[in-house]
Amino acid sequence: MANLTGKTAVVTGSTSGIGLAYARAFASAGANIVINGMGAPADIEKERAAIESDFKVKAIHSPADMTKPAEIAEMIALGEKTYGSVDILVNNAGIQFVSPIEEFPIEKWDAIIAINLSSAFHGIRAAVPGMKKRGWGRIINTASAHSLVASPFKSAYVSAKHGIAGLTKTVALEVATHKITCNCISPGYVWTPLVEKQIPDTMKARGLTKEQVINDVLLEAQPTKEFVTSEQVAALALFLCGDDAAQITGTNLSIDGGWTAE
Ligand code: NAD
Repeated sequence: MANLTGKTAVVTGSTSGIGLAYARAFASAGANIVINGMGAPADIEKERAAIESDFKVKAIHSPADMTKPAEIAEMIALGEKTYGSVDILVNNAGIQFVSPIEEFPIEKWDAIIAINLSSAFHGIRAAVPGMKKRGWGRIINTASAHSLVASPFKSAYVSAKHGIAGLTKTVALEVATHKITCNCISPGYVWTPLVEKQIPDTMKARGLTKEQVINDVLLEAQPTKEFVTSEQVAALALFLCGDDAAQITGTNLSIDGGWTAE
């Protein structure tokens, strides 16, 4: 397992779901953590304190809103000021909205592009100078099976995720000689609040029951007929932070129960 003692990881959207699993995995390997995301202050504090007590590392919360470029830069600066460096950046914050394109709310399109794609640009832009100076870095973007294939009614999400796959490759090429890698991880369906919340709209858009959405839409996409777990995604991210992964860069790593093999 990667030893991340003395390193700092910033994980966007880590008050919940996959992001929280990343934060806990990096902490288990010794990294100090900047968690980020929305939620009730008491819930966020509980998760932050649990990271510190479970893994004997330091953890702080940045309330940066991923739609606000200046706040994203402040989040990176907070990590550097608090711990002396930001060595690992995981761009993970994301939202979903499901609707036929002709009814797709314009403000939902703008929010998804901002949170799921542009925030990664702003975070990477702010973190790369410090990584270059120190000669080491790991940038991991949570993409999706939807960075490789599409599904109907997810125009903004599929566009943002295809975009993040392109951003990943571009950044990897730019930083390749600085011992900085940049990869994206593309999960299939992981049972998190993001998936749970899209079920009512998918029921409406497709005229299905909840059970039909789970079995005939979500798990239908995955040949294994099982959800991916947040912990499995986090274990892959942790591997990417180790020395064994130093030559893995610019890739789009699927963890999708075989979805994109079809
Ligand atoms: P989640 O809803 O559990 O977590 C999303 C996180 O993003 C939360 O911490 C939330 O507070 C944060 N967030 C949302 N808007 C924000 C904003 N404006 N500023 C800061 N933080 C914000 O969802 P999840 O399923 O864990 O998703 C995490 C990532 O994984 C997303 O990028 C998502 O697209 C991707 N993904 C999820 C699945 C899945 O099946 N769950 C599959 C593939 C990819």
